[in-house]
Amino acid sequence: MKNATLNVIAFQRKLLASLVLLLTLAYLSNVYAKDTSAYAAAVSDAKIQAVLMEAYEKFKNDDGGKNADYIKELAVVDPKIFGISIVTADGKIHEVGDTTAVVSIQSISKVFTAALVMQEKGDKFLQEKIGANATGLAFNSVIAIELHGRTASNPFVNAGAIQSTSWVEAKDSKERWFKIKQNMNDYAGRKLPFNEKVYISEVNDNKSNQAISKLLDANNLMGSDPLEATTVYTKQCSVNVAAHDLGMMGATLANHGINPITQKKMLNREYVPQLLAVMATAGLYDNAGDWLYATGTPAKSGVGGGILAVVPGKLAIGIVSPPLDQYGNSVRGQKAAIYIIDKLGLNPFAQ
Ligand code: GLN
Repeated sequence: MKNATLNVIAFQRKLLASLVLLLTLAYLSNVYAKDTSAYAAAVSDAKIQAVLMEAYEKFKNDDGGKNADYIKELAVVDPKIFGISIVTADGKIHEVGDTTAVVSIQSISKVFTAALVMQEKGDKFLQEKIGANATGLAFNSVIAIELHGRTASNPFVNAGAIQSTSWVEAKDSKERWFKIKQNMNDYAGRKLPFNEKVYISEVNDNKSNQAISKLLDANNLMGSDPLEATTVYTKQCSVNVAAHDLGMMGATLANHGINPITQKKMLNREYVPQLLAVMATAGLYDNAGDWLYATGTPAKSGVGGGILAVVPGKLAIGIVSPPLDQYGNSVRGQKAAIYIIDKLGLNPFAQ
């Protein structure tokens, strides 16, 4: 063949290759555009509102689970209470059901006191002094402490939470309680009410938590007097919250540590993913793995029936519904949150 003909063929081949490349790029950018616009649509206000309503309707008559009764006052809370609130990282609020009905925050308070300890003493302190590993055992397990070298393992079991409380810097327990309460108020963006009845009911019946605090004290892990810390911890658990409050508190974490309404900075940005990591590991205690398997989402529950799930950078879901499963996690709360996370495509592992 002549050189000229060969050149034409080579040119045609190059042209074809460029065309294929161009078409592939065009196709990919189209797919990408569709994906991102689909995602934007998935989290639009209208979509959030619709999925919220669906979740509420779907689970409002679910009568699974039972109120906690080891704290007597929790047994008499209306089991029908069911409120869901979604607060986005930029402060938009979507709510349905009994959104003003309150329950005691209980273990969800552990997140915010641990955050306060991080803020005052740093991330290493939290990890080294308290821990960031799941126990695989119940939230009030004593044997878990012995099994793990007489340490708490993480700040979301009772042991680690009482430890966190003890490490909040204060001259006495009065000031410690004041700071812990103020910290939760600031996350919620309002003065949270205190449930005296729940407090009295638990403080007169918390010998097991007292024993836990003494056990940790025997290993030099407490920052203040163990029994005093247990009392302050019991107080922090007795603060009342509505779904709305949980949504706001979680949205502060979703918004990298800044309350999206008041703009108050609560937690250093670099600590937020660490705190969320512990919520993912141990937020739902010995059921944390199953929860994560379903949602991929850091969360925290409390025996008052509250549950808080945080979708990093995007939003938080706060739910109150008192009946619990055998692990101490709200039954309707988990079902509704799993539904919402799935329908809105929010699982962080699926991004
Ligand atoms: N105040 C409760 C306790 O110490 C909190 C437990 C919880 O919510 N899981 O037992």
